[in-house]
Amino acid sequence: MTRPEPLLRMRLRVEQDVFVVRQLGREVARAVGLEPQDQTRLATALSEVGRVMLAGGSGAEVAFTATPNGVPSLTVAVRNPVPGDAARLEPQLRQVGRLVDEMEVGDGETGTVVRMVRRLPAAAPRLTPDRMDDIRAGLAQHVPGTPLDELNVQNQQLITALDQVRAQRDELARLNAELEETNRGVMALYRQLSDELEETNRGVVALYAELDEKSVQLRTASEAKTRFLANVSHELRAPVTAIIGLGRLLIDSASDRLTGEQHRQVELIRGSATDLLTLVNGLLDLAKAEAGRIEPDWSEVDLRAMFGQLRGTLRPLATRPGVDFVVDEPAVPAVRSDPVLLGQVLRNLLTNALKFTATGSVRLSARRAGDGVEFTVADTGTGIPAELHERIFEEFYQVPGSQALAGKGTGLGLPYARRLAGILGGALSVDSTPGKGSTFTVRLPAAPS
Ligand code: ADP
Repeated sequence: MTRPEPLLRMRLRVEQDVFVVRQLGREVARAVGLEPQDQTRLATALSEVGRVMLAGGSGAEVAFTATPNGVPSLTVAVRNPVPGDAARLEPQLRQVGRLVDEMEVGDGETGTVVRMVRRLPAAAPRLTPDRMDDIRAGLAQHVPGTPLDELNVQNQQLITALDQVRAQRDELARLNAELEETNRGVMALYRQLSDELEETNRGVVALYAELDEKSVQLRTASEAKTRFLANVSHELRAPVTAIIGLGRLLIDSASDRLTGEQHRQVELIRGSATDLLTLVNGLLDLAKAEAGRIEPDWSEVDLRAMFGQLRGTLRPLATRPGVDFVVDEPAVPAVRSDPVLLGQVLRNLLTNALKFTATGSVRLSARRAGDGVEFTVADTGTGIPAELHERIFEEFYQVPGSQALAGKGTGLGLPYARRLAGILGGALSVDSTPGKGSTFTVRLPAAPS
């Protein structure tokens, strides 16, 4: 690609020419569309290069070229006829390089060239060939001013630059004041927030103290309730047992014969007394468990034997023809636990399952789970709504509308079973869907402490 024809050339012979080249530099920069500040930068760079070149004792030739392709730019080449002058020029022109986008000092056989490039802003008008011709014609008619004119222009530029510096300094002072103000606001806000935080902290500490006090009160109340229940149930047990015994005596064939009506009434009394005894026994068991008065008697429990016993004792309850009572072979032969307490837990769960299952099956199984053992009692009975899965473990709670298919129940079986599971170092949980059935799971650890 051929280099475009320069927009302007001029010679630099005497010091006065430095002013002229400076003026022309500004003119060319303005003509190709550089902004005023960049016009001054280029003019200053050019006059400095001219001055340094002249100081070397030789004249120089200046050429301005505009490049319209790629990134449009203006190139100024200043050439002197002294080969190898770059070593002298470079250190003196180091600062000048900062006024343009690119600057290079090159040695040639016929002389030394300083080339400076300034890119044109995106908003500059396009450099078409016609426009370049117009610029050339305009520059050719340009009449250079005197050094005094140039000094005047430089002074004006200096004043403008000083004004700008002052405006920037004022703006900086204003920003600083604003920043200080903001800082003061932030500090005030911070102080307010930390005061509020301190206040809140004090409140939380007071609340905790109150909570501690309340939990002590609750514990005392709960212990009193347990003591009361244990005493009352203990006191009730003897007379209720006596009523049942007396009833049995009354209807015994060895006693005086009763009329049919009397016999029915005594049976009613005996039935009620038996229910009452179940309740009193349940309460007593629960009170004992809550008072921490149940100490497990640890041993290696043979699960096959225990399952066989449960099958035998509960089979009489599985009277419904549509219900399969299945006791699986335990997948784990033995577990370290208390056989009486573990048997009680599983018995409670199985009794419930048989009570609440009309068709399908009730199944007891045991498998290894991690280090421990997991027992499941699964039924296909009425099921329990999800929101009541925790409530059924509360004392006396019975699912509203849930009709046990046999026997009334006391609402104490599950809370007691959960207590016992806890005493054995394990846990009791439920998974159940209304209409589909329930699965109660007892997890025991391998080595209870
Ligand atoms: P209850 O003596 O009433 O059986 P529990 O504490 O053992 O007392 O059970 C509480 C309630 O939980 C029961 O009344 C019943 O509503 C519900 N429930 C327990 N087990 C089952 C089950 N297998 N299927 C459906 N509902 C059950």
